[in-house]
Amino acid sequence: ENNDLDTVVATRVLVIGATGFIGRFVAEASVKSGRPTYALVRPTTKSSKPKVVQSLIDSGIQVVYGCMHDHNSLVKALKQVDVVICTVGGYGILDQVKIVDAIKEVGTVKRFLPSEFGHDVDRADPVEPALSFYIDKRKVRRAVEEAKIPYTYICCNSIAGWPYYYHTHPTELPPPKEQFEIYGDGSVKAFFVTGDDIGAYTMKAVDDPRTLNKSIHFRPPKNFLCLNELAGIWENKIQKSLPRVFVSAEDLVRIDEANFMPSSIVAALTHDIFINGCQFKFPIEEPHHVEACELYPDLKYTTMDDFFEGYL
Ligand code: NDP
Repeated sequence: ENNDLDTVVATRVLVIGATGFIGRFVAEASVKSGRPTYALVRPTTKSSKPKVVQSLIDSGIQVVYGCMHDHNSLVKALKQVDVVICTVGGYGILDQVKIVDAIKEVGTVKRFLPSEFGHDVDRADPVEPALSFYIDKRKVRRAVEEAKIPYTYICCNSIAGWPYYYHTHPTELPPPKEQFEIYGDGSVKAFFVTGDDIGAYTMKAVDDPRTLNKSIHFRPPKNFLCLNELAGIWENKIQKSLPRVFVSAEDLVRIDEANFMPSSIVAALTHDIFINGCQFKFPIEEPHHVEACELYPDLKYTTMDDFFEGYL
């Protein structure tokens, strides 16, 4: 087992983006896994998000101040760790080439997990503006591979929550109370993974030789659900049927074309997931792809049924 921390030296982890939505789950899971955990936090974030930064410190994370664009701060932070996990958001994707350059210079980082945390961007083909976002993520992958930096790409699929087509951070909103918006006919399935489980599986993969230079896909079988099923789970919890409003593929494309950021990207991804079925259309074949629940059968993931319980 890779996580046998009593017998092996614990992997030191740096999270870049730990004050963000996905980053907080990952950083907290890293601490929980027993690994010495650092977070590179921009000095301005100390004053813009003091509570978030304090909560990282309180949970045992060592905050180091710096920025992706400040090469010296980056190099200094990288020298202290074995693994780098980046969770920067939309506007910072391409800037990760600066991290790639710094990792190359330092030469001691054993693995880099770039800001992926979604679909397999080499195989999914969403409409614009999501396509441009994927093209940037692909460019980062190519830069990592060309620099011969060991990597793992986390393809975690949808974070658990009702997948509102206009909201980037689903768990921040409760499931619908008045009506469901159903995309297409609501029969196309997707994989839902809670933020805590995204963090937990990521930390399993982070120094596992079986995930080296591979994409790891999170496909929890019990959470492979279509919107009609997801709506049914929530209705069961609230003991009430809610009306369905159908949002067609054309409606979603119209929102994509309006090019409002970031909601048009979310709408384009919603289209790819719930109209095109982008999450399950391809097999997970070795040697370049592995599946998280198969690698880590002992990790008991949270089902959507249990997850929705938390909103009651
Ligand atoms: P957020 O915008 O919430 O967080 C971005 C983080 O990066 C913040 O901590 C931010 O710091 C930090 N950051 C930004 N610029 C810099 C910089 N120059 N130097 C250091 N840190 C910086 O991003 P998300 O969590 O929404 O997205 C992260 C990844 O997860 C993306 O790849 C996204 O596509 C994916 N994602 C996947 C979802 C899913 O359902 N699977 C859902 C949402 C996102 P600060 O706090 O100072 O702003």
